[in-house]
Parts: sequence; structure tokens; C-alpha cells
Amino acid sequence: MVAYMDHKDLGNRRISRERAAQIADGVKRVSDRIAKAEGSAGRKEGSVTLLAATKTRDVGEIMAAIDAGVQRIGENRPQEVTAKAQGLLELCRDRGLVLGTDAAGRDSSSVGFRLIGQLQSNKINKILPYVDTVESVDGPSLARKLATRALAAGRTVGILLEVNESGEQAKSGCAPDQALDLAYELAAMEGIQLKGLMTVGAHVDDEAVIRSGFAHLRGLRDRIRDSGESGTGTCTMLSMGMTGDMEYAVAEGSTEVRVGTAIFGPRAFI
Ligand SMILES: *Cc1c(COP(=O)(O)O)cnc(C)c1O
Repeated sequence: MVAYMDHKDLGNRRISRERAAQIADGVKRVSDRIAKAEGSAGRKEGSVTLLAATKTRDVGEIMAAIDAGVQRIGENRPQEVTAKAQGLLELCRDRGLVLGTDAAGRDSSSVGFRLIGQLQSNKINKILPYVDTVESVDGPSLARKLATRALAAGRTVGILLEVNESGEQAKSGCAPDQALDLAYELAAMEGIQLKGLMTVGAHVDDEAVIRSGFAHLRGLRDRIRDSGESGTGTCTMLSMGMTGDMEYAVAEGSTEVRVGTAIFGPRAFI
């Protein structure tokens, strides 16, 4: 088990009033930033969805974000998905909300539950009961395994193809020049549905560099969506932008920003 998980009970459901208020403020501030960026870019208000990146946060903290209006959450590690799923499912049901793949009560409003970090194939079965979408698919072998397991479970899993636009070694994702062919391959697979593309912005201070990666991802999305290839019509999402670069991402056409720090504060551990 990852060491940091020993420091914190991720299943904890009770947080202080002050902490809940802090998180609600964070959601409000981020929502304002998104609305302002949409306005500056001449985009329709509400065209960008906020996904709360919840790594290292416990069930109580995540529920505070959901209570403040967050409709999509994303975890990085399969172990965190399983550590929190039961608590999140129960507390969502208490509020009349359906979380992730939870089908009990179809007319309730839903909260998306996604994986945004690396997935090893031996962990697929652990997360599949809970997450509706895996944003971090970077190749055909993981995609094929996800598709097979999903079909066996009688469902379809949403996926995004992750692209390493910055080319930074530490980052996962496929190479940009392989993205088109990969997307066509994934889009044709039964059991998964290609919903779009995802990237993590370049780790630099240069606005032009960060934006050019985002713009390139948008160009790829457009080509895939408009290609006429089998299964590509649903490739509409662009998951890009985090605490430090969400304005650039919204300006370049992001449809989902993944934000942790600006909602919950700095992470005490990785
Ligand atoms: C942690 C994380 C985020 C959010 O990062 P912040 O800088 O805390 O907003 C977004 N995407 C991925 C893949 C992450 O791991």
C-alpha cells in the first residue's frame, strides 16, 4: 500500500464546519474563475465542466465539494477509489444523487466518478464497479483489457485518450503523432466509448508553450471527431487545465478542467 495512505483515513466522513466552508469557498472561487475565462474567450457560460481532482482528500472533504455543486470527481489511484467508494456511494444516495456507475435510482441527479491517473491492468476489476470513465487511457492494450472487462460486466466504459502534448518524460500519455491512429483504433472497440482527449499542461512558466499544447490537443480532437471513422462521433471532450493553467485551457477550448489545489488547498502529501 502507498505510504501516504497510512497517514490519513481516506474513508473518514466527518469534517469540521470550518473545513467544509473552506472547500465550498474553493468551489465558488474556481467556478468564478471558469465563468470569467469562458466570458473572456467568448464562450457560452457553462460550457466547461469542473472536475474535482480528489487525490489525498477524504470522503468528508469530497462530499463538501459535491454539496457545493461539484458534479464530477476524479481519482488518480485505484486504491483511493476503493478506499472511498463505499462512503461516497452511501452519502450520495442519502442526498438523492447517483454516483458513477451506481444505477440504483436512475431519476436522481448524477455525479460522475472518473479515474484520471495511471491504471495498471491488474487493477481494472477493482475500479470498474465504480468509475464511469477512465480519462487516462494511453494505448491499445489497456483499452482492449478495459473493453473486455466492461463487456463481460454488460456495460460500456467511457474513455479519454491521454496525450503527452508537452513531451515531458515524467508524464504519461501517448505521443501526439500517434494520437490519431490510436484514437481510431480505440473508437472502434466495443465495450468502451471514446469520449474525447485528455492532457496535462506543460510544466513551464511560458503561456505560449502551455497554450500551444492545449491548442494542438483541440486540433486533434476536431480531426478525430470529424473523421467519419467508426465510433469517433462521440469524441467531443477536451479534458485540460488544472489549478495553475485553467484559464489558458478554457481559452483553448477545454470542456473540462481538473482542479484539486484551488478547491481543497495544498496537498499535505503526494
Ligand atoms: C492532481 C491532478 C490534477 C489537479 O491538480 P491541481 O494542480 O491540484 O489542480 C489534475 N489532473 C491530474 C491528472 C492530476 O493528477
